[in-house]
Amino acid sequence: MTAAERPVPTPDAATAPYWSAAHEQRLVMPRCLDCSRYHFYPRTLCPHCGSTRLEWSACGGRGTVYSYTIVHRAPSPAFAADVPYVVAVVEIAEGPRLMTNVVGCAPDAVRIGMKVGVAFRMVADDVTLPVFELLNES
Ligand SMILES: [Zn+2]
Repeated sequence: MTAAERPVPTPDAATAPYWSAAHEQRLVMPRCLDCSRYHFYPRTLCPHCGSTRLEWSACGGRGTVYSYTIVHRAPSPAFAADVPYVVAVVEIAEGPRLMTNVVGCAPDAVRIGMKVGVAFRMVADDVTLPVFELLNES
């Protein structure tokens, strides 16, 4: 299997703004115009107050490792060159959590509660993933 066969996200109407921003190296999430809270994944209703008045808003890109695991066995041959790698749930400063990777460090260096900052990894010509790197202030 070649790198080209690596599965990548397929943007749809609900997620296209997220992926477009990521490709421009910006992290955005839906924010409610009525209660001002962010949420993720994208929905048609604010999960906090039920409003349908939502907009895509920039996030500062900082967060905390909420949970993580180290993948030692590649789920498919497309990921064989990547193991071991960290799959993490990161809680961003604005509140939502997202599943992502922590990169740029030894997987064993990651701990719950560590401070992380967003980075961007292009995985296909038109697809860039938000990933996170440890910040020295942890
Ligand atoms: Zn709301």
